[in-house]
Amino acid sequence: MTDNNQLTCNTEDAGDNLIPTPKKAVKKTCVRCKEKPSIILFRTDPMCWDCYHEMIIKKFKLNVTRFRDNKKDVERLMLAVSGGVSSRVMMDLVSHFIGGNGSKGTKAKLFFKVCVVHINISCLDQVSGRATEQDHLDHAQRQANLVRSLEEAAQQYEFPFYNIPLENIYGCDESNKKERQQMLIDSFTQFTSSTSKEDILEHFRNQLLFETAHSLGFNKILFGTSSNRLATRLLSSTSKGRGYNVPNETNMVDQHKDIRFIQPMRDFLLKEIHIYHRKMSFIDYTNHNVLLFNNNSKGSINALCEKFINHLQDISNQTIHTLLRSVDKLVSPIDENSVSCSICCANLSEQEIKQLEQYSLALKSSSSSSTTTSTSSCKSSCNNCSASSSCCSTNNNNNNNNNNNSIQLTNNIHKPTLCYSCNQLLRDVKQPPVLTVVPSDSTTTPTPPTLPIYVQKNSTVLLKSYQLRNEIKDFLLDDDE
Ligand SMILES: [Zn+2]
Ligand SMILES: [Zn+2]
Repeated sequence: MTDNNQLTCNTEDAGDNLIPTPKKAVKKTCVRCKEKPSIILFRTDPMCWDCYHEMIIKKFKLNVTRFRDNKKDVERLMLAVSGGVSSRVMMDLVSHFIGGNGSKGTKAKLFFKVCVVHINISCLDQVSGRATEQDHLDHAQRQANLVRSLEEAAQQYEFPFYNIPLENIYGCDESNKKERQQMLIDSFTQFTSSTSKEDILEHFRNQLLFETAHSLGFNKILFGTSSNRLATRLLSSTSKGRGYNVPNETNMVDQHKDIRFIQPMRDFLLKEIHIYHRKMSFIDYTNHNVLLFNNNSKGSINALCEKFINHLQDISNQTIHTLLRSVDKLVSPIDENSVSCSICCANLSEQEIKQLEQYSLALKSSSSSSTTTSTSSCKSSCNNCSASSSCCSTNNNNNNNNNNNSIQLTNNIHKPTLCYSCNQLLRDVKQPPVLTVVPSDSTTTPTPPTLPIYVQKNSTVLLKSYQLRNEIKDFLLDDDE
């Protein structure tokens, strides 16, 4: 930490008790307006609040608008907010640049349609390993406050607010909410390490956001991920065998089928965001002192990487920017032929695609009667398969129960349709996962846990498309023919 820092803080302090280091330097004036006293050292420049505020809005706006396809079209942005400091600040920034609160720039407002979505993970409290009843009550209270404060904030900015419970990953039928919650709790308890629980939570959350964006008609999702978080992700993803997808995951934009995941806060350090948050007197309801899945003292790979990055950043404040600049130089594996993993949507590597091709060929020649016919008959009998979630899955489930191919991971999920790290993830369970569906009548007891329907659907569709590709490949012409 340099001696002339004016208002800065140790990254470790991120949370409720943000303690600024004592002012050691002589008060400087802002480098921009050269009038007002500075309140923050932004990179190396001392700045006053007004100049800092203006600059951060400008940077943010640039990051959001650079992905606009057509300036005449209405831009539809869905803000994914966890309620943490970064996403709370993101809401404020969006409202400022499109001119909310009746302030200037109301014309811009006509070109932006914004909504706020919060994925509510409160039902996972039972998996968290909290010790006492009081802890659970405190947590429930905090969670309720968090949702209320987000809703109020969204109202204030005039953005519609959606609070989506995580159990909706198993469908959104209100009549079986309790079963879905139990299913979620069961499947999380099945994972043995905190790392796997955190990862599967992230995949489920992203999928739910993806589905919500689809159903609400939004094609861009904004995340309030700070540069600290992205640098941590760079390190943790690499150590979990997701290196191939790191450029996509840490980039400003990541394409998930037809929806773009955008990280417009990528340039901002957590401490810069914290200063904004504090200056605006926002309240942070998230609890930083309690790990979500605190089942052992070692914590998760993600938590260890975060600690490591923050430690390095405290030693040298260029660490995070250097890491992210380096990852910019890697080529993103996005192309037209990309194939995505059925659980996490990461692109499969060339090696994995080859394996998938071989698998689909082997499956075709060995058991053309069983799996293929069951899926194709299901497809033909039910045209709505891809649109609604659970229509033919029961059917599939039953058909495939008797068909235990050795490479096949479970009844319905084909191992080669998953990326390396998701395959690892599914190994870290107490029992091999079995896919079940939400029972249509609540009298039947749910079968053991439980990957959501979307995984099985992706897996089947992907395999099917490869089988189809194999069938027609002899009839395809090369581009130059
Ligand atoms: Zn200034
Ligand atoms: Zn995956």
